Amino acid sequence: MARLILNDANLLDGDNPPRKANIVVTGDRIEAVTAAPVAARPGDRVVALGGCTVMPGMVQAHFHAAYWKLGGGMRPMGLDVSPAHTTLRAACNLRTALDCGHTGVIGAGGPHAIDPAMKAAIAEGSLVGPRMMAGSRDVSSTGHSGDASFPSYMQIGALGGVRAVDGPEAIRHAIRQEAKDGAEIIKLFVTRGHGTGRTGGDWELAPEEIEMAVRTATERGVKTRAHVSNRDATLLCIELGVHIIDHGDGFDEECIDRILARGAFLTPSLLFPKRMMQIAPGIPYTEAMKPDFEGMVAMLPKINAAGVKLLIGDDYGAAGMDHGIYNEELALYVDEIGIPALDVIRWATKHGAEALGLGEQTGTIEAGKLADLLVLDGDPLADITVLGDRSKLLAILLGGAAIKDQLSLRSS
Ligand SMILES: [Zn+2]
Repeated sequence: MARLILNDANLLDGDNPPRKANIVVTGDRIEAVTAAPVAARPGDRVVALGGCTVMPGMVQAHFHAAYWKLGGGMRPMGLDVSPAHTTLRAACNLRTALDCGHTGVIGAGGPHAIDPAMKAAIAEGSLVGPRMMAGSRDVSSTGHSGDASFPSYMQIGALGGVRAVDGPEAIRHAIRQEAKDGAEIIKLFVTRGHGTGRTGGDWELAPEEIEMAVRTATERGVKTRAHVSNRDATLLCIELGVHIIDHGDGFDEECIDRILARGAFLTPSLLFPKRMMQIAPGIPYTEAMKPDFEGMVAMLPKINAAGVKLLIGDDYGAAGMDHGIYNEELALYVDEIGIPALDVIRWATKHGAEALGLGEQTGTIEAGKLADLLVLDGDPLADITVLGDRSKLLAILLGGAAIKDQLSLRSS
């Protein structure tokens, strides 16, 4: 089988210090990673990278494929246009993520079981897209932030993006239905806060409902993720075994200890509140976000230094935060909060792959792993913003297949 030989790469995976290496790709796999010269065989394609960066594909771990200027209108999420139209938006956003170097996404909530449909379409070859863990509708209670976006007198019966239920028995049914619909990770709206127009002190689900939700999901072999924006709710979700803590505003030292003990992942997703505060400063909506944002900015270096499995991903598709600006989140962590770039790249690659359940297959650059690789004309450790410049992204490989290939100029 003909091979792709990437010579003279600056190999960057979040697991190791960057190093010079030559990388051999055969079929969908990385065959070898070596400092020694690689002898080309007839038919091999050899590219002299001249020090360009090769890194693993990234994972958007909080991804709303169907969001499209969400929050800009009065109609409920997922019901502003037809389900067919929403699905086309989702396919477009999924492609945007892939074209920006995200070879994996983890669903964080959406309408009409669109995530499972897209995952099935990718598997059958009718859609080109990243590796995916399919999300669910938002599961929460009557009157929760998504449910409250339209008044009761409208008597909207369609579900859209929200499944509002009350009591443990009802939530058990909701989780079973989402699992039946194909969700692999179920989004629980546990508290308000972090962009809901209220503070995170307001619980949306009762502890007995959360416990039932996680237990039922586990019984059905699916994972859970939780929108939480206060300390006590975060601790409860960690103890119950929630897979991904979303936002985690109010995170403190005890949360660090417990999340390390339980092994859950954390998506701080701080770009959304930052942008909302920039766009609309001083209004009640953004004033409610401010203390939580500032608290998390102060804690994040500590959380990272302690070894918590942080992830990247945010509320792209919300109004004022279009899909495609993903790298602004990484730049926020590195350039404004002071997290080392190598650490943020580890969140985006190795941690993301682990959260996807593919840590043995992707996320680092090692012989035998799937060739989910990015080739960059630049060094993200020197300037993280290079990751957001698609003209510098010379190649995107997904399982060895070229999603983008501008390496020909460098072939030798
Ligand atoms: Zn979200």
